[in-house]
Amino acid sequence: MRRSVLDNWIQQKEEIAELNRASIEEMQLKKINALFARVKEKSAYYSYLPGGMDSLADMQAVALLSERQLTANHRQMLLLSQSRVEKVITMYSSATTGQAKRLFFSEEDIEKTVDFFACGLREIATEGDRCLVWMPANAEHSVGALIARALERINVAVFSCSLDETFDALACLVEEKKINCAVAMPFKMLSLMRYADKIGKSLPLKSVLISADSAPPFLKKELDERFSLHVIEHYGLSESGLGGAVECGDKSGMHIRENDLLIEITDEKGNWVRDGQEGEIVLTTLCHEAMPLIRYRTGDKGKISAQACACGSTLKKLQNVRREAVSNEMSPLDAVLFTRDGVLDYRVARQEKRVTIDIVLTDKADREVIEKELEYVILQKGWGVNIEIHWHTEKWRRHAPYYTAKRKIMTE
Ligand SMILES: [Zn+2]
Repeated sequence: MRRSVLDNWIQQKEEIAELNRASIEEMQLKKINALFARVKEKSAYYSYLPGGMDSLADMQAVALLSERQLTANHRQMLLLSQSRVEKVITMYSSATTGQAKRLFFSEEDIEKTVDFFACGLREIATEGDRCLVWMPANAEHSVGALIARALERINVAVFSCSLDETFDALACLVEEKKINCAVAMPFKMLSLMRYADKIGKSLPLKSVLISADSAPPFLKKELDERFSLHVIEHYGLSESGLGGAVECGDKSGMHIRENDLLIEITDEKGNWVRDGQEGEIVLTTLCHEAMPLIRYRTGDKGKISAQACACGSTLKKLQNVRREAVSNEMSPLDAVLFTRDGVLDYRVARQEKRVTIDIVLTDKADREVIEKELEYVILQKGWGVNIEIHWHTEKWRRHAPYYTAKRKIMTE
């Protein structure tokens, strides 16, 4: 098995003679001490940080940063003048009662992300390949645009596709342009493969990098076993600068870009849990120029593998990641609906006590059973008491994905 593509990249970039736990952690400690010195010098906000640390374990004594604190203090956390900010990500979340959380990135921060993408994408693409980029790509520094830049850097032809195209248009594009790899959101990829299968098209896709949403085992299994796709999962979030960790050929977890990110798995108090034990993913961006985050609580759950990876990499490997912060609410519904082959897509909306679910089917499904299971989930979660299910069996050939951004329960 080939070693994780991150190994060589980190070794060369950081000029480390041999990559092992001792050399990786020595590099991280050096970067953390430099980071603390830099942020303390530039902003009074960081006066709570210690002057320096003797070991990485000392991080446990540093206060955690909550989403609420980030929202309230993002201006003081910006270390550069506004004129040097290239990209701003504005996010709204339920936890912040409508207040916007802003993340700032410099040109150099963006370049780091593109460089990481160009490395990670080698797990699915190589020179001469033809790659579908099916991610939000409507702005200059959107994730889709950065992925496209990274692919061009490794001489892979890019076919960007908007998220509101129909599955039919996509299947035709992939077939006509002989596209053999893709970067996509997991459930959209599943829907596309099911659609193509249903109309009897055999797509030339061989490998896919999935990101930006939960990817439960049943989904990866179907993409892998039924559609023979080499599936590589990526974990990243806006707060990590979009890139974060990527699977290797062993497909048993995602190796972390440990030269740019310190990921800690912690209990509620911010203490480390043992490797192999689940906890909250807490991240520190070691090198961000504009707005580094120190011990940011992502709200996501996961664990670090306690076993050495079969690929030979000594980079830490994230496993069982659950995107609690973004898509937990969809998971139980996914488990009812997307585990059924005949389901192409669905959306869910909620208005006071009424929950409406639209389901697009390619064939008849066991509707009574599905209805019962959906009712059970909705009542148990307390989302509503009035449940309305709309079955759409006619329009699947003209269907475009319901969600063009993050999948969630719509409330307006
Ligand atoms: Zn590995």
